[in-house]
Amino acid sequence: MTDKRRAVVLILDGLRRDFVTPELMPRLSALRERATWCAQHGSVFPSVTRVVSSSVATGCRPARHGLAGNTIALVDNGALALFDAGKPEFITEKQRLTGEALAMPTLAERLAPVGGVVIFNNVSPGAAYLHDPLGHGHVYHRAGSFGPGREPVAAGQALRIAGDLDGDAALVARFTSEAIEDGKPALALAWLGHPDTTQHDYPLGSPENHEALRRADAHVGTVIDAVDAARARGEEILLLVGSDHGHQTVSGVVDIAAELIAAGLKEAPESTDVVVAPNGTAALIYVDPQYERRVAPLAAFLAERSWVGRLITPDEFSAFGIPAGGGLAFAVSMAADDEAVNEYGVPGLSLAAKPAGGKADRLGCGQHGGLGRYEQSPVLVLDGPGFAAGAVAAEPSSAIDLAPTLLAFLGHDADGLDGRSLQFRP
Ligand SMILES: [Zn+2]
Repeated sequence: MTDKRRAVVLILDGLRRDFVTPELMPRLSALRERATWCAQHGSVFPSVTRVVSSSVATGCRPARHGLAGNTIALVDNGALALFDAGKPEFITEKQRLTGEALAMPTLAERLAPVGGVVIFNNVSPGAAYLHDPLGHGHVYHRAGSFGPGREPVAAGQALRIAGDLDGDAALVARFTSEAIEDGKPALALAWLGHPDTTQHDYPLGSPENHEALRRADAHVGTVIDAVDAARARGEEILLLVGSDHGHQTVSGVVDIAAELIAAGLKEAPESTDVVVAPNGTAALIYVDPQYERRVAPLAAFLAERSWVGRLITPDEFSAFGIPAGGGLAFAVSMAADDEAVNEYGVPGLSLAAKPAGGKADRLGCGQHGGLGRYEQSPVLVLDGPGFAAGAVAAEPSSAIDLAPTLLAFLGHDADGLDGRSLQFRP
């Protein structure tokens, strides 16, 4: 029987759990009534899309899949250099410098011999390709669509959409038709760009944010209807609808590199002695081993800063799932106020690290990356065999639990992953 089973996953990037209300998201709210709702679902750290994508793909925390951030430093030509994991060429660069894309096998690899994986994705190219960096299945993305062996799909099959709300709608139409109704892979996964993209550009709770939530909810409805139609034809399908992280409102922006330079702890903006990798409301701070003597004064300096919410040192990396090595000396979750509200009454304010490369700083709009309550409160709803209708799972769950849950449903071994299959939780 298990070979007739298949799974459908829909991720709404950046959706906070408290935004799922009958008024804003009627279809997702109605799904709760017939499905299991994960009331304590969390993200990983840092709570950024490329890292969570890698955790969904591998069932492991960053410490084991090896991607520490959306922006990271790698040693290139003997010196630390910043890399943006969202760029389409990132995986090739990471393979060149570290010898591997991700350090654990992906769902695309595990399921390739047993029904395969088809992914439609409308976030950054790097996040899309991290689901299947070695080309075991199909990944459709506006920056390039690939089949097995990372061979580009036929030109007529490429995903020619924009990253806007209409792009998500076009993606869902193709996903529903090609991956749910016709293709029937073991795992069909769609990852929408909104509400995340909208929330980075507009305040949380704004009319623009609400419009993005309503449109995302309509996409949930389209996918539910396609799954229900397939079930009515006798198919056994597990449907997961969720998100990768939530958002907090950016209440201030801190130029960490500039502060370190002013304190005499980093030589210059482009110097490679100490390198700051901003990750939204989190940051990774790297120290070149030749400058080991900077570590102690950096620790003392960071411990005193009011903008540091949680300073994580290497002795705690394992507990937080952060990869050790590569010069990574500190991780910072920026200071957050989970009770304070923004101009629309939406709770959860955080400071953000000033982005690298002149990117917009998102002041007053949504951001994520850290350990704030709402960025760490994404959504997970599980609908299908093994999950009780109307149940609320009060046990903590997180992004690492999706892969073992999917593998368990499809009848495959999921031993040795960081996550656990949610079917067997009390
Ligand atoms: Zn995201």
